[in-house]
Amino acid sequence: MTNTLYDALFARHAQNSAIFITQDDGTNVTYAAFVARIAQLAHVLTGAGVRPGDRVVVQAPKLTDTIALYGATLQVGAVYLPLNTAYTQSELDYFITDAAPALVVCDARVEAEIAGIAGQTPVLTLATDGTGSLSVQAHDRPTTFRTVVRGPDDLAALLYTSGTTGRSKGAMLSHKNLLSNAQTLTDLWQITDADRLIHALPIFHTHGLFVALNTAFLAGAQVRLMAAFDVDSILQELPSSTLLMGVPTFYTRLLNDTRFTGDLVKNMRLFVSGSAPLLAETHTAFEARTGHRILERYGMTETNMITSNPYDGERVAGTVGYPLPGTQVRITDNGAPVAAGEVGMIEVRGDNVFQGYWNMPEKTAEELRADGFFITGDLGIQTEDGRISIVGRQKDLIISGGYNIYPKEIEDVINDIDGVLESAVFGIPHPDFGESVLASVVLDNDDVTADSIASQVAPLLARFKHPRRYILTDALPRNAMGKVQKNVLRAAHSAKA
Ligand code: ATP
Ligand code: MG
Repeated sequence: MTNTLYDALFARHAQNSAIFITQDDGTNVTYAAFVARIAQLAHVLTGAGVRPGDRVVVQAPKLTDTIALYGATLQVGAVYLPLNTAYTQSELDYFITDAAPALVVCDARVEAEIAGIAGQTPVLTLATDGTGSLSVQAHDRPTTFRTVVRGPDDLAALLYTSGTTGRSKGAMLSHKNLLSNAQTLTDLWQITDADRLIHALPIFHTHGLFVALNTAFLAGAQVRLMAAFDVDSILQELPSSTLLMGVPTFYTRLLNDTRFTGDLVKNMRLFVSGSAPLLAETHTAFEARTGHRILERYGMTETNMITSNPYDGERVAGTVGYPLPGTQVRITDNGAPVAAGEVGMIEVRGDNVFQGYWNMPEKTAEELRADGFFITGDLGIQTEDGRISIVGRQKDLIISGGYNIYPKEIEDVINDIDGVLESAVFGIPHPDFGESVLASVVLDNDDVTADSIASQVAPLLARFKHPRRYILTDALPRNAMGKVQKNVLRAAHSAKA
């Protein structure tokens, strides 16, 4: 009787008395207690009518019980479907209609509204004070549960993409997809039960849920679970921790705080960054301050992680490292591999690559080739020795006067200017050229003007790459994962150009 992912991540810890989670209130949960809690929740799920293969939609606070719900969903053979806590009711309506779940679990504070959307589908709740109906019902259930059999190719999760380039798509991930990637990362990053991970990422996204937690489960590592990213809490936990996984803004925010010093991170073993590009400047400043070189990796909802800088070996700023063991990457132009050093589409194949988009057979057929390669939508360059750099998303590529213009190249030049904090370069329709280049720029010094930026950029880039206009702004539009939404910029500025 096996259940591929449940056995590997949870069943093995049934007798493990080591600490799994330390919560914000300072209390600990051991691995054994956590596995028992999973079983209790599994009883509630089956009692609510959840059957193997059913989807369980979860939009809930970041709690130990929420993570146990992930385990319980796997144990009953169902499919875990976490949703961003920032989604509004009309967005939820789309996801619930699209996924047709057997159960919706939501924050107790919005139960009435969600019940209205869920219609006939049962709704249970989780709450930060522990009074949610799912938690309460679980308390008197048995602490063991007969695990439902599931194989490597059965679905384990339906994870929606971040919606950076358009409407979120549901990526169908199998037990094998998730387990193979977690095993690879645990080995590569040498995660063990001696590690203590600071977990400040959301748990509805591949980074915080799968990269961070599945590796911790496999290794039996400790997790300091934080409800959200908070500089003070991180500073407090660093001396007793070994591992931090973050998005680039974690690192810029830490660097902005003078209390963040080399002394504080003496016990730390590894800092990982991903989900969005880490500026080379951040990488360098981080090393200067702490002596640690941040390890940048690259992945996406559909594929789990694809590449990583090496654990032992050169971690090069501005690159995402090498294809993970067991994962094949090729860079192509219209499907044909390009030479080393040439820009092309990043395609990936391996046990980590998803089963297709939920309810979107046409989209699946467009992006998943017959030979198993997935067309990521990201453009990249690979060196002779295999190291990959991301150039940007194909959807953000600007074509002006017949030239391909890669926004990142221009952004790198603008970001290097004194007084510039960050920038986003994008194209808008132009009657003669097809598209023209605009730049949205956030300053950290009010003395800088659009003209002074333009005059500093001009000598560094070919004329066709010069932005036609610099739009000074307080902040770039970002989605809930902190990713810059260029479609929002394009829409906002197309009319005014
Ligand atoms: P959608 O597909 O709905 O538009 P999304 O692509 O942002 O949203 P995710 O799957 O969360 O949804 O994000 C994956 C994308 O994040 C990758 O395709 C890539 O563009 C970007 N990304 C991830 N890691 C990195 C990195 N280290 N450097 C640059 N970009 C990265
Ligand atoms: Mg995507």
